[in-house]
Amino acid sequence: MYMSGSCNIFTALLTCKDISSFLTRYEMIKTVSKSDSALLKEVNSKMAEVTNKKNGLADKKAAYDKKKSELDSQKKQLSSKQKSIEQNSNSIANKKASLATDRAESDKLLAELTAQNKQYTEFRNEDSALIEQVENEIQAVISGVKPPEEATTAVAGKNSSKIDKIDQKGSDVYSKSNAVLNMTYPVPGHHGVSAGFPNYSSGKYHGGIDFPCSTGSKVVAAQKGIVITVKRLNYSYGYYVMIYHGTDAQGRSVVTLYAHNSRILVSPGQTVKKGEAIAKSGSTGNSTGPHSHFEVRLNGSRVNPKNYLS
Ligand SMILES: [Zn+2]
Repeated sequence: MYMSGSCNIFTALLTCKDISSFLTRYEMIKTVSKSDSALLKEVNSKMAEVTNKKNGLADKKAAYDKKKSELDSQKKQLSSKQKSIEQNSNSIANKKASLATDRAESDKLLAELTAQNKQYTEFRNEDSALIEQVENEIQAVISGVKPPEEATTAVAGKNSSKIDKIDQKGSDVYSKSNAVLNMTYPVPGHHGVSAGFPNYSSGKYHGGIDFPCSTGSKVVAAQKGIVITVKRLNYSYGYYVMIYHGTDAQGRSVVTLYAHNSRILVSPGQTVKKGEAIAKSGSTGNSTGPHSHFEVRLNGSRVNPKNYLS
């Protein structure tokens, strides 16, 4: 039986018919009241427990909130760092791309320069018997040419009539003058030398100098004179021309030779002016690539052409 409030308890006692039922009801009420008190105590205890738990949870929540706030802050920092890294990464990628472009450009330039600087020369392994044979022919032609200052008109070979005519005019070649040695470069605009006189870089003899130039470049007479040889060999000098220029102050005969041409524009006996086109350059004969091999010969002996070019 449960009763709430003292009013109801009094009502319960006063409505008893006799003392016996009064006492019985009183005992009952006392028991109930005792039980209520124990219940209340238990409830209070439970409530205290709940309050404690609640406080504990509140502390935990506060700690959690604090931790969350710290983590949020760290997350923000990380996000900021990540953004910065991404920006750096973009910047690096851009720089890399720019470097790649620069690299490609410089590679291209290098390739162009390499192509331009190809150091074409003769092969250096030609058969010595073949070299001797060609040289003997050249010597025979040069020694057959009579100097203009000689009174005789006798000139060896089929070019004699032409030489006689020149001798009589006296202006197509030089006679005992060092002006004959003032020569112009045989390939205009090409002064770069890939192999000089008197040796290749290997140390092997080289009788002239090589001017690398693309096939078809204009090859000109280094000095005025008479064409004394036009030969088209598939070895040695290839398509080559020799020009006789007369004699220097010491009376030495002056001859120039132009080798490895792709085309020859003059004929034996023809007179040419200084700087006049005589051939187109090429790579005929014993040659590694397009270049012009140029020789100066004094009394048939090869000398350094560099000393006479300007
Ligand atoms: Zn050469």
